[in-house]
Amino acid sequence: MSMTPSKDDPSARAVRPADRVVIFDTTLRDGEQSPGASMNKSQKVQVAKALRDLGVDVIEAGFAAASPGDLEAIRAVGREVEGPIVASLARCSKGDIDAAWKALEHAPRRRCHVFLATSPIHREFKLKLAKEEIIRRAAEGVAMAREKFDDVEFSPEDAARTELEFLAEVVERAIGAGATTVNIPDTVGYALPSTYAETLRYLRKHVRGIDKVVVSVHCHNDLGMAVANSLAGVMEGARQVECTINGIGERAGNASLEEVVMAMKTRHDVLGVHTGIKTERLYPTSRLVSQVTGLHVQRNKAIVGQNAFAHEAGIHQHGMLTHRETYEIMRPEEVGFARSQLVLGKHSGRHALKERLEALGYPLADAALDGVFQDFKALADKKKDIYDADLETLVIHGQILAQGGRSFELEALSTTSGTGTLPVASVALRTAAGESLRDAATGDGPVDAVYRVIEKLTGIKVTLREYEITSVSTGEDAQGEVSIEVEHPTGVYRGRAVSTDIIEGSARAFLDVVNRIALRLAPAREPAPVDMGTV
Ligand SMILES: [Zn+2]
Repeated sequence: MSMTPSKDDPSARAVRPADRVVIFDTTLRDGEQSPGASMNKSQKVQVAKALRDLGVDVIEAGFAAASPGDLEAIRAVGREVEGPIVASLARCSKGDIDAAWKALEHAPRRRCHVFLATSPIHREFKLKLAKEEIIRRAAEGVAMAREKFDDVEFSPEDAARTELEFLAEVVERAIGAGATTVNIPDTVGYALPSTYAETLRYLRKHVRGIDKVVVSVHCHNDLGMAVANSLAGVMEGARQVECTINGIGERAGNASLEEVVMAMKTRHDVLGVHTGIKTERLYPTSRLVSQVTGLHVQRNKAIVGQNAFAHEAGIHQHGMLTHRETYEIMRPEEVGFARSQLVLGKHSGRHALKERLEALGYPLADAALDGVFQDFKALADKKKDIYDADLETLVIHGQILAQGGRSFELEALSTTSGTGTLPVASVALRTAAGESLRDAATGDGPVDAVYRVIEKLTGIKVTLREYEITSVSTGEDAQGEVSIEVEHPTGVYRGRAVSTDIIEGSARAFLDVVNRIALRLAPAREPAPVDMGTV
């Protein structure tokens, strides 16, 4: 029974050309399961809007049954982000499917993604269920989801380690029960391109009705093969790829969206498929996700790393000058990598700023531009030359501040240190309620002293695990980015901040994690139970 007039909605089973691959982004669900990467509702909506602008086809916004906070976030994405299909993960149970429906009933385009583990190890140790029971529950789960949703995806969790014959049986029954997409997850990142291709080939050959549904791939990166395996699946006829921005996700992460998409674009000669992704939005989206989650992108990361298009060796530079394609298989502009280093400064006006931001892929509305312009002026007072990287940081931080709702803000900071004296820091913070808090402390160094004061003032105590400073722009007065990782009883958190002053940047990065912890401690968001399983 169908609850909505979806007959004229092309979303559920759009007729697509045979060479069109659906990009299913799970940054907000699987990606968010990276340690320390949890996002609040407004951050999820912000990332979802960026994913829509990027052109993804499906956004998996969360796992509605995992927590009330997750359900609310999916609902907000479904309401506020028009265009892509919005999906929720669900186990094959009435409670989970009802939660997914509650989260998505108002979304114009929605999908329920049900899963059930099928591999021997999961059957025996996690589910304690016989094969027949797994088949029955999978078919029942899909049928139950189809009572509410026209668009239902089924995933046999740990498919890559499931006996082929049994896997084929489960998938066939899921299709029979009404699944419109069948996803074949390599949940633990165990497959090799050749074995994964073999699994897909077997299913295409032995599963009745498989040519009527979309076959999807979902690969984890434990052996560094998530992208390679995904592409091997596409070569065997899969027409949906599940992936995340920057490849974030549990453990070693998921297949990276930008790598999958650019491989298809650059090697169209071999793969012969295309996506709806606006590739020039890849770099800005990567930056946004990195800022929101606090997860750094390694410098040599394919496609979006800082060094992805850098040519240092003189011999390469000579080749580049003679003919770019000597060493460049993609143009940086194709992925939105802003090569230009046009410099703005103190005397640059609002109009120049607006134009430059538009060129960088940030067409801001007037109110948002006003805010960035103010921050720009403040930065220009401290720093002579303002580069693209500086501007990008201002915009993204502004968006996070505007939408993330900080609990504590830095009001004032001073430190004294020197040889033979004990480093002392005094810090003033402002709370969301407008209250001003002030204290001082000593420490092993000025940064340590600052952190001790902030811990005293906020009551949030953490163990610092990592502390790193990198330069985000060039010049003598470059901005430094401080990134830190801390441990708290509720989990691992990452934070970062940018400043021309290292101590101030360190204080702001620390406040960034403190605020993330404060958000986690807020009652609206409970961590997902660990034994729920996922794909
Ligand atoms: Zn996964």
